[in-house]
Amino acid sequence: MSKKHKNSLSSSATEDITFITDASLAGLAKWLRLLGYDTAVFPKEAGRAMMRQADSEGRIVLTRRRDMTERQFSGTLFLITDVIVSVQLKAVIENFSLKIDRARMFGICMECNQKLHPVKKEEVRDLVPPYVFENCEKYNQCPGCKKIYWMGTHPRNALRFMEKHIPNHLP
Ligand SMILES: [Zn+2]
Repeated sequence: MSKKHKNSLSSSATEDITFITDASLAGLAKWLRLLGYDTAVFPKEAGRAMMRQADSEGRIVLTRRRDMTERQFSGTLFLITDVIVSVQLKAVIENFSLKIDRARMFGICMECNQKLHPVKKEEVRDLVPPYVFENCEKYNQCPGCKKIYWMGTHPRNALRFMEKHIPNHLP
């Protein structure tokens, strides 16, 4: 995590956007979470129950089901046409003009969509590999699944993936 993390609460319109995807778009959901966007994954196929959740939580619906666009829905629904995650991600970023801010990346658990909390280094001693403990000073933890996150190979690979697939959108 970078020192800029403190600035991540600055508000702007796109930062308040939240999403819900159907189960088939769980891969896309992980990437949106990684970018700091609160993204729920509906555990079943898209349908009325998913629309209800989107409505009550004010989430934008992302779905691959074309017939969903014909349903009555007062919120925003975006049809994902591609099967490749990087293309899906690019489409969402462009359609909603999402701002990619390195300070807000890696702030949400990729597994359960909960906001990570900083934890003290000494608290993770037995929870991370020894070489990580030696080399990393800052850690975050998911309050849901208790997973520990640190700046390591995963964020580096993620940034590399984005530099390759969505270079024009990186800050
Ligand atoms: Zn979690």
